[in-house]
Amino acid sequence: MIQYVSNKGNGASVDFETAILAGRAPDGGLYVPTSLPRISKTQLQSWKNLSYTDLAFEVLSLFIDETTISSIELHKIIENSFDTFYHPEKIPFHSLTSRKNIIIQELFHGPTLSFKDIAMGFVVNLLDFFLKRRKEKMSIMVATSGDTGPAAAFATIGKETINTWALYPQGYITEEQERQMTTITAPNVHSVRVTNCPNGSDDLDELISSLFANTSFKQELNLSSVNSINWGRIMMQTVHYFYGYLKTVDTIGELLNFAVPSGAFGNLCAGSLAREMGLPVGKFILSNNQNNCLQRIFNEGIYVKEKVINCASSAIDISLPINFWRYLYFAIDQNPEKIKLWMEESEKNNRVEFDKNTHKQFSKGFLTASISDKLTLNTIQEVFETEGYLLDPHAAVAVAAANTVKAEFPNDSKILCLATAHPSKFSDVIKESLNVNALPAEAIHHSIENAKEYCQKIYECNYENMYQTIPKTMQVISNK
Ligand SMILES: *Cc1c(COP(=O)(O)O)cnc(C)c1O
Repeated sequence: MIQYVSNKGNGASVDFETAILAGRAPDGGLYVPTSLPRISKTQLQSWKNLSYTDLAFEVLSLFIDETTISSIELHKIIENSFDTFYHPEKIPFHSLTSRKNIIIQELFHGPTLSFKDIAMGFVVNLLDFFLKRRKEKMSIMVATSGDTGPAAAFATIGKETINTWALYPQGYITEEQERQMTTITAPNVHSVRVTNCPNGSDDLDELISSLFANTSFKQELNLSSVNSINWGRIMMQTVHYFYGYLKTVDTIGELLNFAVPSGAFGNLCAGSLAREMGLPVGKFILSNNQNNCLQRIFNEGIYVKEKVINCASSAIDISLPINFWRYLYFAIDQNPEKIKLWMEESEKNNRVEFDKNTHKQFSKGFLTASISDKLTLNTIQEVFETEGYLLDPHAAVAVAAANTVKAEFPNDSKILCLATAHPSKFSDVIKESLNVNALPAEAIHHSIENAKEYCQKIYECNYENMYQTIPKTMQVISNK
């Protein structure tokens, strides 16, 4: 049996189904598999020509027992989860001609046009499968910096087993992202706008953590989480690293570099696990905007929680990179006692200083860059003008970061830049970058246009009273 434990080490090990249904471990830690599967070069070679969904099946099978979900069922769940994608290949690629060796992996062709769709649809379908089998229902809560909310809301439309609460901080997400959530009419999907959040979605994550810690409330609503605390999200995100590698390299074994726009570190945690499993990665280029909390962790070995700055690449405006703790667990040879101490220190003091050895160990194989909004906007403009390819602000952060550190690489080494959103979700930034009033066709998507034609359905409350109003409202709705 493949077993899962909390990275803080408390509690017994659990099976896959329990870990996915719970979202977060009871001790407040993050679920991790007790060991990671290893992939040989021969196995990688044999995966070379698989479609994205067939590859996903191969990789995920390593984490899930046949007795939990049969192969046939798993195949079906994966296929269903990618049916809603707008591109037949699910995850296509684009080579930049003006920047040699930079290849874009387009992770944004899902139903809400962000990379969050890649794992969200699957995790929600997985939950639905388990809940139906157990004849249970649950409530899920997500806080969003812009893309998690729409992805969770969309994925749960019409699911009779799930009530969804998508909390978002007013003023920190784009109008397009807001409308993606609020124009959903399904009765089980609830969008909550919270005004006056001093620190954006991190404030809402703190509310959610406190509600999870409230045992009676949690039980009453059968509360769970589909943000990147849920192991299923990370597990699914390992697949696009394998896929990107297989589609990009000339020979298996060659090292490939990845530039990743990072906020909560879920995406890069998944990449690191793929490397740990045997994927030949050269360097990970950790790409931050001006919120450079992760850069500091990797460069200086210090975590400090700082005030969030509103940036053009708003989905990575994060000061709590929760999945760093999951990555760290594997980076320091699975020592849960240490993780527990550090996680508690970070919650108490908003600051952790790692010892030299630990810092050296976890920063191996990473380069970092923190990209200003000015450079982000310039990158969008330059790439569009030179070759007619439109980057969204997050992909632009990755491309700019790759450019910043390229002197560290031999000329011919390839860098795969992960493009995590479609530009149509960030129309104001695109207009500003290109200095235009009317959007180019590349920045328009019919689903975003469509959402403009509906009324919005929103619950609203203030940051000051959200600790009372949100749980009360949830109780009333769930008991209806
Ligand atoms: C969520 C998100 C990211 C950051 O991913 P993490 O896993 O939180 O590091 C980057 N870009 C976009 C567009 C996102 O929505």
